[in-house]
Amino acid sequence: MRNQWILVTGGSRGIGRATVLRLAKQWNVIFTWCKDSDAAHDVERECESLLGMVEGYQCDGSDEQAVTRLAADLLARYGSPFGVVHNAGITLDALHIHQSPANWRQVMDTNLNAIFYWNHLLLEPMMMQGGGSVVLMSSVTGVKGNSGQSAYGASKAAMIGLARTLSIELGRFGVRVNCLLPGYIDTDIMHTIPKEKRADLRKTIPMKRFGKVTEVAAAAAWLLSDESAYMTGQTLILDGGLSA
Ligand code: NDP
Repeated sequence: MRNQWILVTGGSRGIGRATVLRLAKQWNVIFTWCKDSDAAHDVERECESLLGMVEGYQCDGSDEQAVTRLAADLLARYGSPFGVVHNAGITLDALHIHQSPANWRQVMDTNLNAIFYWNHLLLEPMMMQGGGSVVLMSSVTGVKGNSGQSAYGASKAAMIGLARTLSIELGRFGVRVNCLLPGYIDTDIMHTIPKEKRADLRKTIPMKRFGKVTEVAAAAAWLLSDESAYMTGQTLILDGGLSA
């Protein structure tokens, strides 16, 4: 059991939830959520028997003040985190010419600007402690276009650029920064797509199946662990061959 803590944003559902469950076998985990308190409490309950302390906090990542308040509070109570998984994300799909400015901004605020708000407080203590690992949950859509996902794709591509620069700025402090790029993963979002469309999507994947949340969580855990100690500034694609 490691005595430090890891922050997972958007840890109440889908990939974030699987990541919290995986990490809590070994670490203390703080996760955030935005709207669904039932899902968050469910994660806390499910983690009760695991080794790590797990606490969920309602915190809209797009709200700079809310992030600043919670980050300061967590630093005061628990000290520097060992790691951060910037996982919270939304899509709000629309063809670019039909995208509303409000939705465009909401995607950028949630997927990208939130990372800046958290980093602004958490990175310096991580540098001072002399080590740590940051994982940015990007997407294959950040490197391969997908109709209707201009805002989402732009935000996910920006995460890759951000991770590259951060890895250069933080490398000498022992803090690593990498991006994880999942392809189609079997989460709630997938089940909002009609069955026939889902079957068509599956056919486009060389491995002929969607990824599992546990598979993404395992990759995130690896990027946080010493097993990946010499890897920084990189993108790890997990898509069943979709982008090959
Ligand atoms: P889900 O929609 O299943 O879960 C999203 C999580 O983020 C929830 O915990 C949600 O909390 C939280 N969240 C949403 N908005 C905010 C916000 N403003 N502030 C704080 N938390 C927020 O997402 P997935 O598990 O599918 O995706 C997780 C990440 O992985 C995202 O970044 C996504 O872009 C990326 N990804 C997903 C893929 C997939 O196929 N599913 C593929 C590639 C990348 P609440 O429910 O309370 O709002």
